[in-house]
Amino acid sequence: MSSALLPVFARTDLAFEHGEGAWLTTVTGERYLDFGAGIAVNALGHCHPHLVEALREQAGKLWHTSNLYKIPDGERLATRLVAASFGDTVFFTNSGAEANEAAIKMARKYHSYSGHPERWRIVAFNGAFHGRTLATISAGGNPKHLDGFGPEVPGFDHVAPGDEQALLAAITPETAAIIIEPVQGEGGIREVPAAFLRRLREICDERDLLLIYDEVQTGIGRTGHAFAYELSGVAPDIMALAKGLGGGFPVGACVATAKAASGMTAGSHGTTFGGNPLAMAVGNAVLDVVLEPAFLKEVRRKGLVLKQKLGALVDRHPNIVEELRGEGLMLGLKCLIPPGEVVSAFVDAHVLTVPAGDNVVRLLPPLIVSDDEMALAVERMDEALDALDKRLAQGLSAAE
Ligand SMILES: *Cc1c(COP(=O)(O)O)cnc(C)c1O
Repeated sequence: MSSALLPVFARTDLAFEHGEGAWLTTVTGERYLDFGAGIAVNALGHCHPHLVEALREQAGKLWHTSNLYKIPDGERLATRLVAASFGDTVFFTNSGAEANEAAIKMARKYHSYSGHPERWRIVAFNGAFHGRTLATISAGGNPKHLDGFGPEVPGFDHVAPGDEQALLAAITPETAAIIIEPVQGEGGIREVPAAFLRRLREICDERDLLLIYDEVQTGIGRTGHAFAYELSGVAPDIMALAKGLGGGFPVGACVATAKAASGMTAGSHGTTFGGNPLAMAVGNAVLDVVLEPAFLKEVRRKGLVLKQKLGALVDRHPNIVEELRGEGLMLGLKCLIPPGEVVSAFVDAHVLTVPAGDNVVRLLPPLIVSDDEMALAVERMDEALDALDKRLAQGLSAAE
């Protein structure tokens, strides 16, 4: 069947008609447990009553004005993000890539504004993902994402995460900043050790470099903390957010210290849609729920429960899964067979998961998932892996 959509996604043959909590129902009425949450977007699951109410109410009042005017809900959301983080100021965007673009521009501008326009290069890490705009594919450095799109946006130098020698060698008098995901998401749920983040902070402080965290996937409660940097206690100067922030409504944010943002004066950057009243109403509603300390404590508890159940799953299927990784409800199964085959087997068992780099299957359930739903998902995944084990024992590839 041909489609009018640009074929840049290899889509699974599933279409959903409605959702509720951690469940999705297809157009033909089949139910799936959603342990992908739209790639860590549906933080509060599907159709959370508080979010539906906030969107409905705002839809009847005002959708869009312009950033030429004041947007009180945006002021409020920014104030709340600042109060919950290291930051002093916020720029709203529509996506994660745009939040990173703002972070990259801000870091360059900081140095030019403080008399060092020669400092514009940014050190990034192998295996990173920062989005799909021209600058963010260069920041990510993944050859598959760069192929065929002409010369890279200059100014990004890549090193291996954890390699301090390579990092020090990559820093030159032209370096402005370091950008890193505290836990690599697309790269395969690879946690950056707290000790390395501490070194990054020291190196940045010694050399007046800005430390940028891409928390587009890790932020807004995903790891059991409002922001993943709380796990290490090492704060950045600039942080990109998106995915969970709107719970499914497209919104991103670039949070920064006053110092890092000092060059971003009136007219230096902008957006038409970013931070519009609809997005701000939903963002505030997400924070109403996620920033409750009791809610985050529950996410940490559920993360441990899921980790324990998955640990048993890994032990039971050593021919398919070799390792369990991650924090909170951002977990990964490192596989010995292509992760796409495991994801397909889970789809057959009516559990949705997401493949990632480094042979990893990501489990990113909505943060409101229940213990029963976690138990059921793991039971279904266990059965799916049993079936895969049998096929492998018969010498068949998982896909045959
Ligand atoms: C998803 C993601 C992005 C890109 O976000 P978009 O909204 O797709 O532009 C950037 N960085 C990280 C870490 C992500 O997970």
